[in-house]
Amino acid sequence: MKSSQFFISTLKEAPADAEIVSHKLMLRAGFIKRLGAGIYNYMPMGLRVIRKVESIIREEMNRAGAVELLMPVVQPAELWQETGRFDKMGPELLRVKDRHERDFIIQPTSEEVVTDIARQELRSYKQLPKNFYHIQTKFRDERRPRFGVMRGREFTMKDAYSFDRDVAAAGKSYDTMYAAYCAVFDRLGLQYRAVAADTGAIGGDRSHEFQVIAETGEDAIVYCPTSSYAANIELAESVPLIAKRAAPTQGLEKTPTPGKSTCEDVAALLSLSLQRTVKSLVLATEERNEAGDITKVTVWLLLVRGDHALNEVKAGKLAGLKGGYRFATVAEIEEHFGCKPGYLGPIGLKKPVKVIADRTVANMSDFVCGANEADFHFTGVNWGRDLPEPDEVADIRNAQAGDPSPDGQGVLAIQRGIEVGHVFYLGTKYSKAMNATFLDEGGKPQFFEMGCYGIGVTRILGAAIEQSHDERGIVWPDSIAPFTVVICPIGYDRSAEVKAAADQLHDQLQAQGVDVMLDDRGERPGAMFADWELIGVPHRVVLSDRGLKEGTVEYQGRRDAAATKVAVAEVLAHLQARLQAPAPQAPAASA
Ligand code: ATP
Ligand code: MG
Repeated sequence: MKSSQFFISTLKEAPADAEIVSHKLMLRAGFIKRLGAGIYNYMPMGLRVIRKVESIIREEMNRAGAVELLMPVVQPAELWQETGRFDKMGPELLRVKDRHERDFIIQPTSEEVVTDIARQELRSYKQLPKNFYHIQTKFRDERRPRFGVMRGREFTMKDAYSFDRDVAAAGKSYDTMYAAYCAVFDRLGLQYRAVAADTGAIGGDRSHEFQVIAETGEDAIVYCPTSSYAANIELAESVPLIAKRAAPTQGLEKTPTPGKSTCEDVAALLSLSLQRTVKSLVLATEERNEAGDITKVTVWLLLVRGDHALNEVKAGKLAGLKGGYRFATVAEIEEHFGCKPGYLGPIGLKKPVKVIADRTVANMSDFVCGANEADFHFTGVNWGRDLPEPDEVADIRNAQAGDPSPDGQGVLAIQRGIEVGHVFYLGTKYSKAMNATFLDEGGKPQFFEMGCYGIGVTRILGAAIEQSHDERGIVWPDSIAPFTVVICPIGYDRSAEVKAAADQLHDQLQAQGVDVMLDDRGERPGAMFADWELIGVPHRVVLSDRGLKEGTVEYQGRRDAAATKVAVAEVLAHLQARLQAPAPQAPAASA
């Protein structure tokens, strides 16, 4: 292709609202153009990358036996009412009405529609297993759309759904998709990690996120460098850091801590390690009658060590909290603790609360906590002696770097990641809700065992750039670059020799199936090179009168420090060798 037949639009500066490097570079290189919050035009250059990502995904899905179809963006509300998600899903689900005042939704995902297809089309066990997928526009009215395509409101997702006859077969489908995802992300040239993820109410251990390693990632990945343990922070287990509770050595003392309402401040004031302090978090659960009125509020005190953070997902799995909880109001706190937040603790409560101690806290002795009196803390606190044993001991904190790995094989490390894919075993959640069955060998109806598998197609562009860029611009992996090779002729509009040589090389590469771009804009070399470095084309050939006179052109890989002179007669072979070279594993660069 020649640039005169294409569309190039680069910017010197990124708009001020672009926060992270991939967003800035995508805007500057003319890949996307903002239309509204979280809504972007995919410009010609960006669309080429999207199409390449899609075709890699499509090839690997097909290879894994999944079958492509296309489900609508606009879906009738009735199906979403069958599963209850029309009401349950909250404002992220965009609801619209047609001219007859009928409710519709703009799909954020397609479990309902695909299950509706399955219950009509897959009647017999003989038709199973089946995996349907599509690559389709999604809409999620995200609370905080940001970082360009990374968290858009409208975006493209590949979503696949497997239907199986039993749990064992569903496990196989899951494993097949897991392997296909590894193949996809390998081919995309990304550094990634598959990590175990929370399965929520479904339970089991069949949920993995595919995380692209990048410092700007929104997710924290917990892994063990000396074993295969890897989980996201929501799930990663925290073992107790104190194996056995030591006997008390101090007496209980009420200590003035005026104005010191955080564990950090209290530890500093008392010249103690933060690890000696205990943090109090107060939650509330509600019981309601059939009319929906609140009949009872229970207050919960969760205790984690001062240097630890409460894990709200883990808390949400505890027996008493799994029906849903919220943080307690100040009024509820004052009623139960007789004190405002900042000085709370488990000793001397006004009204009963349920006390849940993190595994580490349960084994602490001589610790420090709030005294339920403004400007005071207790020191030398010991379980059993100064307060009853906790109602429950559980893992309720986030794992931290340096913790022992739960598999006992080393020490945990933490890395940031961008979730680009998710594989999830659904069981019969949707098939039961929608009464989707097939007939087994005995002619008996059985619910489908399902799995769902998503890849954030457009998010991948952002993730790839976060991982691979330098001060001049993007460095695309060969497999998804908008063009693989760019020919930059110097004086294309002035020199017949340069034009002829450039055209010939362009035609030869095109005949070989190489995705080549010839810049025929007649730009000055500096501006032309800067554009293609910003756009991130991985291979560049420069032709000039001077070079051609001595029979050479210049080749430069996007990561090479300098250009290499190559004899005109050898340029095709040289390029072939470079194109076939495996994509270099780029270290994560910083802006
Ligand atoms: P997140 O936790 O980032 O919101 P999710 O758990 O809601 O993701 P899934 O419902 O599993 O995501 O969707 C599958 C994939 O779609 C994700 O792995 C991600 O790559 C992509 N994705 C999800 N939300 C967005 C978004 N707002 N913009 C772009 N891609 C998205
Ligand atoms: Mg989400």
